[in-house]
Amino acid sequence: MTAPDVRFVEPEKLLSCVHCGLCLSSCPTYVELGTEADSPRGRILLMRAMEEGRLAPSKEVTRHLDTCLGCRACETACPSGVPYGALLEAARPFVEEHRPLVPRVLRRALDAALTRPTLRGALTAPLRILAGRPWTARLARATKSSLLGYAAALPAWRNVPSLPPVLEPEGNERGTAVLLTGCVTHSSFPETTVDIARLLTRAGVRVLVPPDQGCCGALSVHLGDDIRSRDLALALTRRAFREEAQWYVSTAAGCGAHLREYAALLPHDSAAGRITTGARDPLDLLAELGLPPPVGSIEKTVAMHDPCHLLHGQGVQDAPRQLLSRIPGIDLVELAEGEFCCGSAGTYNLTEPELASRLLERKLADIRSSGADAVAAANPGCLLQIRAGAIVRGMRVEVVHPIELLAHAHGLRKERWQGTTPLS
Ligand code: SF4
Ligand code: SF4
Repeated sequence: MTAPDVRFVEPEKLLSCVHCGLCLSSCPTYVELGTEADSPRGRILLMRAMEEGRLAPSKEVTRHLDTCLGCRACETACPSGVPYGALLEAARPFVEEHRPLVPRVLRRALDAALTRPTLRGALTAPLRILAGRPWTARLARATKSSLLGYAAALPAWRNVPSLPPVLEPEGNERGTAVLLTGCVTHSSFPETTVDIARLLTRAGVRVLVPPDQGCCGALSVHLGDDIRSRDLALALTRRAFREEAQWYVSTAAGCGAHLREYAALLPHDSAAGRITTGARDPLDLLAELGLPPPVGSIEKTVAMHDPCHLLHGQGVQDAPRQLLSRIPGIDLVELAEGEFCCGSAGTYNLTEPELASRLLERKLADIRSSGADAVAAANPGCLLQIRAGAIVRGMRVEVVHPIELLAHAHGLRKERWQGTTPLS
């Protein structure tokens, strides 16, 4: 294969890496595989060689980029400010163009299945029968099936009423937020979306919920489809931008991190720029604005899992801890490798199941040794991945969105928190 003469990224971004290696120990794939080409530094060298036309995007080179989680832990660790996430996002579509036909078509099909609501609804309909059932969990454990583990990890299907287009704040109005309901969160965890909206109103936020929002485009980025990702970003901007809103709150950390890229994706669109500057994670906004004191307690030792797209993608770490530590009865503990990805990483657990499962095993071992009886994970992908892993391995640990704990402690749900993982 001869190297194509194509420029896909600004060379100065690639040249900002001084090869110091200070990021290596923070890279889960390097730590797990031990190969330089599966490290941030090694991948940057591969991208640079491709960009300079010295290396073709061969099967082997593509493999080293495919194993990258896009977790951006290396970006947090890098003292030279290398924009690794931007480099990877530029390299992925280039590599995608040169991928053999069959895997390329399969990845396009996965992209379509995840980002088109009607198709996704039709394909996931059978899961409604299996979702959240104790017998699904028992079957998953007996057969060690990850697929059944995911089905058991989903909440049992129930008809949650849609949110109204406007929710008025309680008490003094502090500002207006557009709530971006996301595709996976809203279809899999609709009650979490409702909880976020109600907690925001409790903090004094007027919440706007635009109809028919669609996907933000983050999943297409993971699959290297920059054209679809840009189309989806533009469509969401047209549907969701509201002149009066200062904040754009997303229910998933992965989507929230992607909203921060809208200005770069659509540089001539002022509404997209406003979405980027207003993008906030709900936990971060709630911690800043403050909530009234909780009305209930939760007696649990809760381990904090930091989703990569929250910690490394948005720099949010203290907010969930601040909010949960105010709930009476909760004892917060940290995980040994808290900054390591759990293996979910957008579509990574679907496209790279073997490595995703090794990283999950690592995360579950840390959870076991933390002694926690619950894990708080503020991203639906991480939540499903860790919960499914715990179910398949028969671990007695609940895996829950921090928003759900807050909703219970603030009396927003009728039932007391009984846990959410069907273990028996
Ligand atoms: S990405 Fe940053 S930390 Fe890693 S080798 Fe390059 S300069 Fe060093
Ligand atoms: S994004 Fe994550 S997996 Fe990829 S090179 Fe950086 S630290 Fe490693």
